[in-house]
Amino acid sequence: MSAPPSPIDPLRRRLAAALAAGGAAGALPGWAASSSRKRRSPLGVALIGLGGYSRDLLAPALQATRHCRLTGIVTGTPAKAEEWQRRYRIPDRNVYDYDGFARIADNPDIDVVYVVLPNHLHKRFTVEAAAAGKHVWCEKPMAMDAAEAQEMIDACRRNRVQLTIGYRLQHEPNTRAWRELAKTRPFGRLLRVKADAGFNGFRNNPGDAWRLDPARGGGAMYDMGVYSLNAARYTTGREPLAVTARQEIQRPEIFRGVDETMRFQLEFPEGVVADCVTSFGMNINLLRAECEDGWYQLEPFQTYDGIKGEASDGRRFDASLGPRPAMQALQMDEDALAILEGTPPRVPGEEGLRDMRVLDAIFASARADRKRVEIAAG
Ligand code: NAD
Repeated sequence: MSAPPSPIDPLRRRLAAALAAGGAAGALPGWAASSSRKRRSPLGVALIGLGGYSRDLLAPALQATRHCRLTGIVTGTPAKAEEWQRRYRIPDRNVYDYDGFARIADNPDIDVVYVVLPNHLHKRFTVEAAAAGKHVWCEKPMAMDAAEAQEMIDACRRNRVQLTIGYRLQHEPNTRAWRELAKTRPFGRLLRVKADAGFNGFRNNPGDAWRLDPARGGGAMYDMGVYSLNAARYTTGREPLAVTARQEIQRPEIFRGVDETMRFQLEFPEGVVADCVTSFGMNINLLRAECEDGWYQLEPFQTYDGIKGEASDGRRFDASLGPRPAMQALQMDEDALAILEGTPPRVPGEEGLRDMRVLDAIFASARADRKRVEIAAG
């Protein structure tokens, strides 16, 4: 009797097709060249931070990738390490705590460090991983501000390793088709964009949630707002010139020093405006483009699966990668291929930096009570 098929097998097959459709991203600028050390597929990936996203999405996704393997973990909790080692057969030599992390430099099983920590720790561990000669994948938002993001880019350049930001949507097929419309403009001139991303959370005991702590990069804007902001940029295909932002707090007993809701309006060249909302108090998930001769929209536009949409001419955005964690598997396989083939990653550190520059301006505008803030050109 043959063994029953693994639930991972169909995911692997879909992933192979999606990878084949994606192709290589282009030629490599000198600074982005992989370090001279020879890398072979599959790349060994160490996750740093074994919280919800690593546990529920990234580790399962790594079981389905073709070009990566979960070979290491970095955690401050010994009990967690034991459980992960058992589940994913990770040897003792590939387990690190935060203080001993630098030793990873000597470990040939690990090619990539994926930073999945609270936002205030992204810079520290990206810089340390780069110094250890490891390629870095870093979760969104890239950093606390643009200055940190620039330091991270510089560290990776200096050490000749790739830096890639975990904007998983940029790998997703409907989002990729959506982005093409910014170039082909089938509905004429783009006039307005609407980008709303949020969830109704923290109803019950918020506990010691870092997402509510200003010092650790808490607040809706850092967490969900980057989806609205990134989407406004990829919908227009341009960089915003100025922003006006307003922070709102409905539940002051929970949100102390961080935004519960942020409304921001981005001004793009040629009079295009993006109205964006992000919130920890509302379930919102819509991306819409209004053009001279029609409209198109994705709803939802930033879930883990089931992204879909339509347009005024009847076209649909209905490609399916399959259920979660297919998107994360595709993201990591594409990012691994960029390292293996020496091509630029789909979402390089510079893309994260562009968002951080706008984020800095959004916070400055909100602090100054909706003052219009111009955004420094990159
Ligand atoms: P989480 O709270 O579930 O996990 C955070 C992990 O960091 C925990 O294992 C915790 O023990 C560890 N940690 C180490 N130092 C800490 C400190 N000083 N304070 C708090 N925790 C500390 O968070 P998460 O949801 O896994 O998010 C981690 C990162 O991943 C964030 O940057 C977040 O924005 C990002 N994320 C991205 C997506 C996505 O779809 N791309 C989804 C979820 C989270």
